[in-house]
Amino acid sequence: MQDETTVGLNWAAEMHGHVFQLRLGEWHVDLREQLAQIEADRAVHHDTHRTFVIVFAHIGERFGEEGIGHRRHGDQEVVGEVHTGHAAIVAFHGSPHNSTMSKTYPVSLCWFRRDLRLHDHAALFHALKESAAVHCVFVFDTDILDALPNKADRRVEFIWRSVQELHVELEKLGSTLHVLHGSARKLVPQLAKRLKAGAVFCNHDYEPEAIQRDAFVASELAKSDIEMHDYKDQVIFECDEILNGSGKPFAVFTPYKNAWLKKVDDFYLRAYPVETQLEALAKCQPSSLPSLEEMGFKPTNLSEMALPCGMSGASKLFEDFQQRIGEYHARRDFPAVKGVSYLSTHLRFGTISIRALANFAHHVGGQGAQTWLSELIWREFYQMLLHHHPHVVNHAYKPQFDRLGWLNDKDKFASWCEGRTGYPLVDAGMRQLNQTGFMHNRLRMVTASFLTKDLQIDWRWGERYFAEHLLDYDLSANNGGWQWSASTGCDAQPWFRIFNPVTQSERFDPAGKFIRRYVPELENCPDKFIHAPWTLSRGEQEKCGVVIGRGYPAPIVDHALARVKTLEMFKQATA
Ligand SMILES: Cc1cc2nc3c(=O)[nH]c(=O)nc-3n(C[C@H](O)[C@H](O)[C@H](O)COP(=O)(O)OP(=O)(O)OC[C@H]3O[C@@H](n4cnc5c(N)ncnc54)[C@H](O)[C@@H]3O)c2cc1C
Repeated sequence: MQDETTVGLNWAAEMHGHVFQLRLGEWHVDLREQLAQIEADRAVHHDTHRTFVIVFAHIGERFGEEGIGHRRHGDQEVVGEVHTGHAAIVAFHGSPHNSTMSKTYPVSLCWFRRDLRLHDHAALFHALKESAAVHCVFVFDTDILDALPNKADRRVEFIWRSVQELHVELEKLGSTLHVLHGSARKLVPQLAKRLKAGAVFCNHDYEPEAIQRDAFVASELAKSDIEMHDYKDQVIFECDEILNGSGKPFAVFTPYKNAWLKKVDDFYLRAYPVETQLEALAKCQPSSLPSLEEMGFKPTNLSEMALPCGMSGASKLFEDFQQRIGEYHARRDFPAVKGVSYLSTHLRFGTISIRALANFAHHVGGQGAQTWLSELIWREFYQMLLHHHPHVVNHAYKPQFDRLGWLNDKDKFASWCEGRTGYPLVDAGMRQLNQTGFMHNRLRMVTASFLTKDLQIDWRWGERYFAEHLLDYDLSANNGGWQWSASTGCDAQPWFRIFNPVTQSERFDPAGKFIRRYVPELENCPDKFIHAPWTLSRGEQEKCGVVIGRGYPAPIVDHALARVKTLEMFKQATA
């Protein structure tokens, strides 16, 4: 888009056309009313975002100030930027249809996936805007569910509860959510045909398998002349929107972040005003949704946890975090403190809009909000990396690290998984994951570092374990986090920097509050010793009710020795 715009601007600056009406394929934009006295030269339809970028030459000073100064997003009003002197960019989001013009589709289908909300939703907005009656569907996709080894999976329950809320809210609006169970590849085209939909609208999903699924569905739909439209929704900038000066993807985070921050503005952060278009929801009879049990799953302990589900749950967490964001930078590293947002699962399933979060952080300012916005940018950085370097799914980002001589001891791996390594902070982190499906970011780094650099176990083993257990599991963030910790990744922790699990514990859980929550065996251990309880004498161990090696494991590895061996392993791989 940037390239086309730049080309258009240069071109427009040279040309002096006198065009008042622009024709873009089947769409017809009459600009006379809004843009009287303006000479337009060129229109570019940017298909991916269904965005028109129209470049005008010789725009009057007054219009430049008054007309184009007004920026909107998610509708068809004039937006853009004045470029001093000759030209400006005016963009229309969505098709140029408005309520007085006929809609493109009598019936369409909006397919919800990782965007389980009714507000600020790109695909839903466009579907409603371009269709007289929009049906909504969610598929519990057996192509994904059948591969889950654990039938008491918190993620399935989180999705089910969030879908249930979406269903209730759509029924309150006189419509419904068609909730299906089976292969999305078959069911979405089938439903679209049954409803006589002219198009299916959905948001981009960037994971490799999702891309294949969507391509398959689009080709099935095409056989019945049904269009498929997809939109950017879960990120502020897609994989090709932030590139370096040579038009290549960034390989280092900080310049990527700087370019991201330079580009972002209200245009990208503004919400899609779905609520203005809800009258286009199809009127439907109430429908039912399959229960967890009917789909072969069991309820989990999700309801006992402080993770409310659905759009309402996300809003509650976000409201709470808004009061704390100013302290984020100072508190985010301490797992016993409520310092982070706990919004990752909601971001994963789209029960909250990334635009709402980034917009808030961008405008509130201050160190806390800036640091938090950086974390949201890391999320997009890793998505961008996965897109441009898909080999990272199974390989080290840096090929020389595929040669690392991992020891891969199965018993040690089992101890790590179960939180029985004898290092209390590592064990507390792993037990938090097993019991709740969440792990604090500091502990994800500590446990990942411990697995790879203390136990010398392949990062892919740990990555897989996290993928099975994390509620917020996301391929790009998880892969990025693991390769960062293992030093095999892009802009990763240098391999010679190895976390010491005891000093990490002293620094980030000084009074052992978090450790005591998840490792109750050490409840009575004095603060000074809780980070390395094996240093207590036998008599002291007995006094505080835990004997190391019996009540709580002795360390399964000597950190100092492991460190030396790991440095050697990396030296050999890089030699
Ligand atoms: C080994 C390892 C594995 C990880 N696996 C995942 C994963 O599967 N899914 C996941 O969402 N995050 C993952 N992370 C990143 C991070 O730990 C979590 O996003 C964070 O702990 C979630 O808590 P929060 O929502 O309170 O985060 P906050 O600190 O409030 O951050 C806000 C949001 O920013 C994003 N974010 C924060 N840190 C990162 C990061 N380092 N990389 C990418 N995005 C980030 C998340 O969407 C998060 O919700 C992993 C990190 C490591 C080190």
